[in-house]
Amino acid sequence: MNCHELREGFELYALGLLEEGEEKAAITAHLEQGCLACRAHMQDALAVQALMLSQAPDVLPPMRLKRRVLGAVGIQPMGWTWFAAACAAAMLVTALWYGVIASERRRQRDEARASLAEVTQERDALQSVFRFVEDPQTKQFSFGDPQAQPPRGNVFLNPRFGVLLIAANLTPAAADRAYQVWILPKTGAARPAGKFRPDAEGSVTHTFDQPLDLNDVSGVAITVESSAGSPAPTMPMLLLAKIG
Ligand SMILES: [Zn+2]
Repeated sequence: MNCHELREGFELYALGLLEEGEEKAAITAHLEQGCLACRAHMQDALAVQALMLSQAPDVLPPMRLKRRVLGAVGIQPMGWTWFAAACAAAMLVTALWYGVIASERRRQRDEARASLAEVTQERDALQSVFRFVEDPQTKQFSFGDPQAQPPRGNVFLNPRFGVLLIAANLTPAAADRAYQVWILPKTGAARPAGKFRPDAEGSVTHTFDQPLDLNDVSGVAITVESSAGSPAPTMPMLLLAKIG
């Protein structure tokens, strides 16, 4: 086959629709031999496919491609009926192909977006924990008795960043319950400092981001409340860190 004959198959080749056989092998061999003119033609064919598949649903494949696609599915040219069938078949193939590519791209993009969001979230959470713990004004207090039954934990207080709670061995909260954190002032009622649900291992890293007057804090406590949260503690204190 000469260059012109081979080029008849380039679009199908670029689309990956050229069946294994003499023609495909001949094209591969010819391109590998380094015919510069044919390489340029193949690049054009690939560019047309890329454009067709990625950007513009209205870009119709070249007429020659329609003919070849039809040939590839075994329909022979026979006048106007053939022509109409050729157009329909080619458009169907193009539409299917376009749909497959588009949905695959969508899936990959959504996956990439989700994992990026996850990584970003984890990184931000870690950074805020580091910032909190490393700050010279942060004070650390322990929860619970290490000799006794778990749960246990640490509370970090910072006048600018508020409360950081790291606790372990918490029992999972029932579906309609949540753990709630309380700041106990030296005088007056306990103030809510956010709620959380521990992870599957019973661990939690909870932050309550609000400036805090450390001189007015006598303790930090945890109770289990309804999942909506409560304006004041209604249940016994599960953990209590005494401060100052
Ligand atoms: Zn050539």
